[in-house]
Amino acid sequence: MRKRIFRLVLAVLLALSCSGCGGQRRQAVSIPDDPYRNVYEIFVASYYDSDGDGMGDLNGIAEKLDYLADMGYTAVWLMPIHPSPSYHKYDVTDYTAIDPDYGTLEDFDRLLDEAHQRNIRVYLDLVVNHTSDEHPWFTQAKAALLSGQSSPYIDYYHFRSTAQSGYTRINDELYYEARFSPDMPDLNLDSPQVREAIRQIMAFWLDRGVDGFRLDATTSYYTDSAAANTEFLSWLSQQARQIKPDCYLVGEAWAGDNVIRQYYQSGVDSFFHFSFSQADGVIARSLTVSAPAPYYARALQQALDITHGHIPAIFLDNHDTNRIANGVGKSQREKLKFVYGLAALFNGCVYTYYGTEIGMVGTGKDENKRIAMLWDSDDPSGRCADPAGATAAEYVYPGVKQQQKDPQSLLNYHRQMNYLRNRYPAIARGQLSFPEGVSTDTLLVVEKEYEGQKIAIVINFDPNASATVDLGALGYSQMEYAAVGTDRPAFRKGVLTLPGYGIAVLSGRPADS
Ligand code: CA
Repeated sequence: MRKRIFRLVLAVLLALSCSGCGGQRRQAVSIPDDPYRNVYEIFVASYYDSDGDGMGDLNGIAEKLDYLADMGYTAVWLMPIHPSPSYHKYDVTDYTAIDPDYGTLEDFDRLLDEAHQRNIRVYLDLVVNHTSDEHPWFTQAKAALLSGQSSPYIDYYHFRSTAQSGYTRINDELYYEARFSPDMPDLNLDSPQVREAIRQIMAFWLDRGVDGFRLDATTSYYTDSAAANTEFLSWLSQQARQIKPDCYLVGEAWAGDNVIRQYYQSGVDSFFHFSFSQADGVIARSLTVSAPAPYYARALQQALDITHGHIPAIFLDNHDTNRIANGVGKSQREKLKFVYGLAALFNGCVYTYYGTEIGMVGTGKDENKRIAMLWDSDDPSGRCADPAGATAAEYVYPGVKQQQKDPQSLLNYHRQMNYLRNRYPAIARGQLSFPEGVSTDTLLVVEKEYEGQKIAIVINFDPNASATVDLGALGYSQMEYAAVGTDRPAFRKGVLTLPGYGIAVLSGRPADS
């Protein structure tokens, strides 16, 4: 196993630059060598174009690693990078190659190395529910069946001689299972040859140094059978860990909490908590319920209850959903900041879809949710072409370059929250407790303890009024914070005053020093 350089000290640079941290000194940060990460999801085609052909590419991401490290992201999930006939590349024709649109294997190796130098882990999208109908496995199987010959690849898919729901017709005597679309034939995951092929695909990338996989469409592996899917995920997880014991797996199971709870029994590290995402999800509802503090406190505990000791995967939006800005309110910058603050205070991993840190919008058809990252409002260099088929490409907020210079920007708020998560490992990993007699309906005090270090997180859910609470009995002496506006919190002699939508992290108990 590759030996990691762990507990890399990142943040001398962060400590020196204070834009957006409201005059606070940023402390040096050492990132634990574990999978509790601030993960950034990238649609490569729309991220950064390094060679001027309008298509985002791997070298473009490599150029932006300093940006990602400065923002406090500690892992990236690349949406599929393999050869594929589609713009989204979720229909793969070669699982161990790089799509020429995006670059070469050499580019990939360089990106991986440069990411690891910055203590950023790299996760690939593993799409094994189905292949492309142009994958050689499928074209060979189909050709053999049409010519009455045998082929080992016939068993890779589900062929039938009669019409059936979920199947696509080739001719009156030949149909194949394709639940998502005719160009995405479902693999036969019971085939020992298919399982061996999947094992080899994982080994190919893990041996290259990839740190883990995002598992696409796990609820569709076996249609309508959570038990069969959990069994397959157990197998997949065991195989991956035999290849690389510390690899990280996160599954897409677009389902309710009770289904996800069952999937966690597979041993896969994380599943995306869909019920917590979006404007009508658990996190954003904390902005609208009448007693947000106890509501949010229950949600923090609920995420841990669902995962039984595994790692919650918390997110607000992704490539399949509306952008969170559309749901919360495109012009509601303070709300958009606060809702990310709330997401980032959960245990586990917090995922950010590229562009959400600058308030990008997108709704309706998928292409609209995957438009070009806005690096600079004034300079188009490096900007990608939007996916063909995108019908709306609106930018409500300025580009990265402009937001970096604005202490009040959404970007600098995300950066500050990511910093707090990296600075205080207890935020992502700590055991929860709720001190008595200090929280109200709109002010929450929650303590988290990790490796003997305790912190308190204090959240003022009131958008307008400041709140004052005496926390002298808890023994904290230091305070760092994230504020949505220009008002600053104050912490003197144990008494904390937090402006509306303010978040404070208290530390420095005598017992912890
Ligand atoms: Ca390019």
